[in-house]
Amino acid sequence: MDSQKTNELYEKFPHLYRERTAPLESSQMGWGFQCEDGWYKIIYEMSRKIEKLSTDSPHDCAITEVSRNEDGTLYVATRNLTPPLQDIITAAREQSRLTCEYCGYTPAFMRKGKGSVAGHIACGRCLRRAEGSKKQKATKRSRKPRRAPDVMVVKR
Ligand SMILES: [Zn+2]
Repeated sequence: MDSQKTNELYEKFPHLYRERTAPLESSQMGWGFQCEDGWYKIIYEMSRKIEKLSTDSPHDCAITEVSRNEDGTLYVATRNLTPPLQDIITAAREQSRLTCEYCGYTPAFMRKGKGSVAGHIACGRCLRRAEGSKKQKATKRSRKPRRAPDVMVVKR
């Protein structure tokens, strides 16, 4: 996640992300949010709900890692977890399952194969963008119509 969005989350929820300055041996939070910007809203809402249930004590839940599960969904590790907090985190994970990690568009799906989006949940547009414009450019040039088509087809 880019540094501006990362800082927004840290400033808004300093207590929940208090391990952001902890040594990496004890907390992975020092790496920041190990996902793309599209999940910012999901993480923000999840953080807001968790913080509502916290009491400003050192025994409150602390998030120790935000990254990605093997199935491409949002992974959140915590300290001092309670069942209501687990529910909030599970809901965020379920939401991420259909939300593009790059742009936040829904629906999006887990992409397989090779390339930069493999293993990520991405919408069709971000998938095409990541697959590279090289291929696209080549076909565009060779299929260039001599005159404007009578019917404009909107590419989806
Ligand atoms: Zn997208």
